[in-house]
Amino acid sequence: MVKLLDLQAITMQHSDEYKAAANRVIESGWFLQGKEIAQFEDDYAKYIGTSQCISVANGLDALYLVMRAYKEMEVLHDGDEIIVPANTYIATILGITRNNLVPVLVEPTWENLEIDIDKIEAAITPKTKGIMIVHLYGRVAYSDKLSEICRKHNLKLMEDCAQSHGCEWNGKKTGSLGDAAAHSFYPGKNLGAFGDAGAVTTNDEELAKVIRALANYGSQKKYVFKYVGINSRMSELDAAVLDVKLKYLDEDNVKRQKLAAYYYENIKNPLITLPARLPDENNVYHLFPIFCKRRDELQKHLADCGIGTLIHYPIPPHKQECYSKEIWNTPQLSLPITERIHEQELSIPMNQAITQEQAKEVVEAINSFK
Ligand SMILES: *Cc1c(COP(=O)(O)O)cnc(C)c1O
Repeated sequence: MVKLLDLQAITMQHSDEYKAAANRVIESGWFLQGKEIAQFEDDYAKYIGTSQCISVANGLDALYLVMRAYKEMEVLHDGDEIIVPANTYIATILGITRNNLVPVLVEPTWENLEIDIDKIEAAITPKTKGIMIVHLYGRVAYSDKLSEICRKHNLKLMEDCAQSHGCEWNGKKTGSLGDAAAHSFYPGKNLGAFGDAGAVTTNDEELAKVIRALANYGSQKKYVFKYVGINSRMSELDAAVLDVKLKYLDEDNVKRQKLAAYYYENIKNPLITLPARLPDENNVYHLFPIFCKRRDELQKHLADCGIGTLIHYPIPPHKQECYSKEIWNTPQLSLPITERIHEQELSIPMNQAITQEQAKEVVEAINSFK
């Protein structure tokens, strides 16, 4: 049996350190906005390579608050368009629409699964004010060309780093490549807390100041409210746990990369397509997506072999019931690559706790699918 994600096995790897960290918080009697948060924010900013890190309650809030702060700063206005990959997780889109901004969906490439940078310029209109890239599956979505497009059209470049902790591009971490970045520390992410948690990283001090205020009821000075804010805080306990996990993030990612290399070398089934292989520094393998025209049959076959899988994601955002067709700004939404990804994608077990024997089990089960 191989679970898709065995969070218990992952947590047990450093359980003594987590218990010590939790004990420190319990004994301090201080649970919010204290030393642990200050320490984690400092350590994570250093790790990512930005001057600012603002801890928040979850990844969705991080996305929301970046754009909300840009609105307070008059950089963004109601109705402005934000370009976003069509195959992202719904949270990226929610962060945009919750701010009365308009998501403009751009297809990914079939090879890289990330936003197709060659299709971005055709989607730019006078209302376009930003691009939100998503380093989906742990693969880097950035390039020099993207940065040139942003400069040329005066667009804010934002990153959704919920799936890319530790991923690099030319020696720089995702989360430091654009103007601001949202991170999620949902338990199942490469850097996961013991509940919901998130952060924003940026080098923009003014933006950081506004986000800090917005996340704290809109207040910069106790009981004085400058903005109509929200309450979005990370707990001291989560900060203490994340600080332990951060120390192991790079070695955990190397374990993921070794497992990926094993999959690339040993999965040999003509019915299955693997995503094009990226250099290791550009992929921290949050997920390992494989593609199959008979995906649902494959999933059943793997379940019969005791292998846990999950589809990321069965329904693309533009087909979700929560959004009416009108919001997409294009009446005939034709997104064939996105739809193909959603029809054929299956994520197989990928994390730092998978043993060599388990990896072999996964490969054998996949190769025996007929
Ligand atoms: C997990 C995830 C989020 C949301 O993070 P939460 O902490 O669960 O709110 C946003 N974007 C992507 C791509 C994600 O995978």
